[in-house]
Amino acid sequence: TMNSSVRVRFAPSPTGPLHIGGLRTALFNYLFAKQNKGTFVLRIEDTDKKRYVNGAEKYIEEALEWVGIKSEEGPYRQSERKDLYKNHIQSLIDKGLAYYAFDEAEALDGHRKSHEAKGKTFIYNWHNRLKLENSLSLNKEEVEKKLIANEKHVVRFKSFENKTIVCKDLIRGELSVESKLLDDKILYKSDGMPTYHFANVVDDHLMNISHVIRGEEWLPSLPLHSMLYDAFGWEKPKFAHLPLILNPKGKGKLSKRDGDKLGVPVFPLLWNGEKGDLLGFREEGYLPGALTNFLALLGWNPGTEKEIFSMNDLVKNFDINKVNSSGAKFDVEKLKWFNHKYLQLERNEKIADHLICSYQELKTMKKELVISAVELTKERANTLNELWSLCSYLFIAPVNYNEKTLKKVSKDGTIETLNELSKKIEAINTFKENEISKLIKSWINESGKGFGNVMQPARLALVGELKGIDLYVIFEFLGKEESLSRLSALSKKIKTSLQ
Ligand code: GLU
Repeated sequence: TMNSSVRVRFAPSPTGPLHIGGLRTALFNYLFAKQNKGTFVLRIEDTDKKRYVNGAEKYIEEALEWVGIKSEEGPYRQSERKDLYKNHIQSLIDKGLAYYAFDEAEALDGHRKSHEAKGKTFIYNWHNRLKLENSLSLNKEEVEKKLIANEKHVVRFKSFENKTIVCKDLIRGELSVESKLLDDKILYKSDGMPTYHFANVVDDHLMNISHVIRGEEWLPSLPLHSMLYDAFGWEKPKFAHLPLILNPKGKGKLSKRDGDKLGVPVFPLLWNGEKGDLLGFREEGYLPGALTNFLALLGWNPGTEKEIFSMNDLVKNFDINKVNSSGAKFDVEKLKWFNHKYLQLERNEKIADHLICSYQELKTMKKELVISAVELTKERANTLNELWSLCSYLFIAPVNYNEKTLKKVSKDGTIETLNELSKKIEAINTFKENEISKLIKSWINESGKGFGNVMQPARLALVGELKGIDLYVIFEFLGKEESLSRLSALSKKIKTSLQ
């Protein structure tokens, strides 16, 4: 039920795969909307034709769906709302609060360079706008002529000349900026499309957005947005700028390259990019609940010891006023810790479904078997992918053996041992772990072979390396026939290597 006036929006630009920073922004908006029985709006900000990337919008929707964020409204697309922006820019021009600017790119470039040479920065605003080529400096006829001739132009905001712009942010408190330092930002580009700032403010107003929750990188735009609201005479929404997600060293925004170094993705899902595929958290075996729990705590501090928060817990406990203003360091170990916890909490049947879905080799296996493999091995897995490498030998006989171990056990005695072991295995009637363990242990004791001399080759035969769960449990899991076949495969392998 949507009965409150709280309306938030997630407003990504479809310029590539959604970064987890963007996903966190979506999450915080969603949590805030839910806990206030408000509305979460999805708005695609696609007015920048140059940066538009095919497939990005679909990716955003799939990523939100994967983590369980549902929008009540949208997606709206700004590219489908051009008339609205046109009308609104016209009204600002008519009121004298925005103006046409015809300056050529080279001319502006020249100004920039000559300023730079003097150690200054060129700012297009009240102090020089009358010396430049625009509808404030040119006379009416000239302007008309240029417009009729369709001369290339932009529309600029006539920034306030001498005002202290005071902005409020729910996380950062009050911020003030002197308008005389601001430039006359472009609101309309020469390609006839609104800029981000303009379309964003118009839409937030028209969509009745009550709270703008977005990343810290947009904080510098806040004074301009605030002036735009004032220019239109509109009431402002409340603003909350979320802290950046920093790399583990706390130096700079978490980048794709940081992720590579840490061995983790920075995107939720697989992205088939022009430069190749980028894996997402989903493909790397993370659970969506673990990811959202982890992301929620990047910047938000619940103020208690509680760390495991389901989506419902988050909705109940999240507090926008408790979001920190300083950057949040991305801690991979913590993420893995969360994923490990969520794997242990997840029903084995669901995990099994996931494995069956992801690994061809399991398609023909009985589901009960996969469930019991999960039960036996998940304790040591941080991710689903790790889980697969921890249990795959239960389904696939070793193709290659660990070289070092193979070398070590490659002697005539081993072949004999494996053959004797096989005979013992063959003779076991109740093929259950404790029975197998009892019989094999007493045989080893009687034979005086020594545990290592039996267990090492046996493990190598079953697993392919000296890893894995309790060997007797593996025997039981594989069953007599498969166990015997793996023992004999290693014995053959050793035979050929000794020839
Ligand atoms: N389109 C902007 C982005 O990609 C939206 C910023 C905002 O939420 O105002 O992040």
